[in-house]
Amino acid sequence: MKKAIYPGSFDPITFGHIDIIQRAKKQFDHITIALFKNIDKDPLFSIQDRCNIIKEYFMNDQQISVEYFDGLLVEFAAKHDIYTIIRGLRAVSDFEYEFQLALTNRSLNERIDSVFFMTDLKYAFLSSSTVRQLIKFKSSISAFVPAAVENKVRELLNG
Ligand code: ADP
Repeated sequence: MKKAIYPGSFDPITFGHIDIIQRAKKQFDHITIALFKNIDKDPLFSIQDRCNIIKEYFMNDQQISVEYFDGLLVEFAAKHDIYTIIRGLRAVSDFEYEFQLALTNRSLNERIDSVFFMTDLKYAFLSSSTVRQLIKFKSSISAFVPAAVENKVRELLNG
């Protein structure tokens, strides 16, 4: 069985991430979406909310599981017997960061390889941080994220 892990902050998940997942599903039998529990900045959505939104979206999809983790990605992946990391690339600016990350991960565990999916042109300018900005300015985000994200925003705004 070909397994892969798709790690990220997913604060929140966007249609850009979902496009990468749908395309990766054609190449792998099973994908674990793995959320970093502690990200550098204060996340807008809690780890539980980020996780629940993704679980709800992929509820009936046997090819997908959703987990969160703390610590080193390569250790978490190896513990689950996964040695392929999926990442997405948008602009050239993503490349440098991803290059560094992929080499670091391989130096930590040489069985680990990273594979990269090029963004769909539709989502080339879409990032979680853009969505967070739109939320801050109370702008519509329905073109960029699944309905569960919008519902959560509404819930948070209404206390
Ligand atoms: P991180 O905090 O690790 O960058 P993100 O949740 O922001 O995590 O993104 C996870 C992965 O998905 C990264 O490899 C990122 O480049 C990729 N990604 C994010 N948005 C898009 C998009 N619109 N198109 C393609 N890949 C994307």
